Amino acid sequence: MINPWSSKQYFDYEKLKKDFGIENTDNFFNHYLFTRRLIFGQRSISYIEFAIKNKMPFNAVTGLMPSGEMHLGNKITIDQMMYFQSLGARVTIAVADLESYATRGISFEKARNIAINNYIVNYISMGLKPCNIYFQSENFDMQKTAYVLSNETNMSELKAIYGLEDSSSILHVNAPIIQASDVLHVQLGKYGGPAPTIVPVGVDQDPHIRLMRDLAQRYRIYNVKKENTGISVYIRGKNDPHEFIDRAVEILSKNLYKTEINYEYRSIKISNSVPEDDIKIDIILANLEKDFNDMTFIGPSATFQKLETGLKGGKMSSSVPDSLISLNDDPKEAERKIKNAVTGGKKTIEEQKQFGGNPDICPVFELYAYHNPDNEYVTRVYDECKGGARMCGSCKAEAAENISKFLKDLKEKRDESMTKINDYLMNKSL
Ligand code: SF4
Repeated sequence: MINPWSSKQYFDYEKLKKDFGIENTDNFFNHYLFTRRLIFGQRSISYIEFAIKNKMPFNAVTGLMPSGEMHLGNKITIDQMMYFQSLGARVTIAVADLESYATRGISFEKARNIAINNYIVNYISMGLKPCNIYFQSENFDMQKTAYVLSNETNMSELKAIYGLEDSSSILHVNAPIIQASDVLHVQLGKYGGPAPTIVPVGVDQDPHIRLMRDLAQRYRIYNVKKENTGISVYIRGKNDPHEFIDRAVEILSKNLYKTEINYEYRSIKISNSVPEDDIKIDIILANLEKDFNDMTFIGPSATFQKLETGLKGGKMSSSVPDSLISLNDDPKEAERKIKNAVTGGKKTIEEQKQFGGNPDICPVFELYAYHNPDNEYVTRVYDECKGGARMCGSCKAEAAENISKFLKDLKEKRDESMTKINDYLMNKSL
């Protein structure tokens, strides 16, 4: 079981993919995080590809926990958000101030300061364009949607997904529903209506993704099913299906689909469809359904990113300050941490020259791989390490120089980024 509340580091990504049915990424996305397989899996990313190919609206949603400081390990999510934004995504970011108040006693005012000073200002300096950032405690649409979603969730299900026990706090029930609502409410009519939605996450968040995808489906009236020869649509619920079927048939025929109707079985068979039409038909019907169902959602898609290893090996953790580099760290402090990092190098220079190092287990190499988009450069570092032409001391110094340049750049942009904050916040009461 994957537990989103555990501090365990997951390394066997292939096994996780197999166990939980997470699919491989394809070659559609030409970003180094995809091509280097730092994004190692996905759920239903074909919806996002479809939206991009057909120039249709889509969302990218993530959240931040306003505690501590943003560090390099969190950067991969924002790098993805910026990439999806460059491809046309409407970006929404939830500040989980309800959760930080409930679990860590951080006041809403403090959470706001942390979110702005430690996270949002860095997002802007990194290049995130204006988008919608909101605080959970202030977003009534999200809260209302969470309340409604809870009606379609029961304890047996949450126990099965999260391993909850009778002694688990109700927060463990509320938190996943709130997260589902963070992601799904951006498809409400006032935010633009149903649209494919991508959520970049670590694999530990997969239980939340599975729950929100199930919830999205449970609220749909039109249930699009891929069958061997094509697509069928089933009308969910107990209401008289005639009107739902007639309206769907009308819109499908406008899109040149031929239909066979069975009112008794509440179904429509689309006779000239192929299984690959499922996304197109789902989106067409979601856009019809939104006129009579406020809770019309397209199941969210997800990318799963690998977790960057801490500089001391294991997980980056604020309880081990030298394991991570905060984006607010002084560049000199970052250099010191990198120079003290563990590596995949051999014990002596002679051995390193003879046998080469092991960049595949080296947190210093990850600084190159996660944070430098230049493929040629990163490949050269990898090959030189493996081939014994690169020594750890100079390699660390080079990585430290790169990272401190990045941090200096963020620092220089900080004041200017601060003046732009209101272009990002949904509630602009700064
Ligand atoms: S040479 Fe660089 S990449 Fe290779 S093991 Fe040493 S620090 Fe890591």
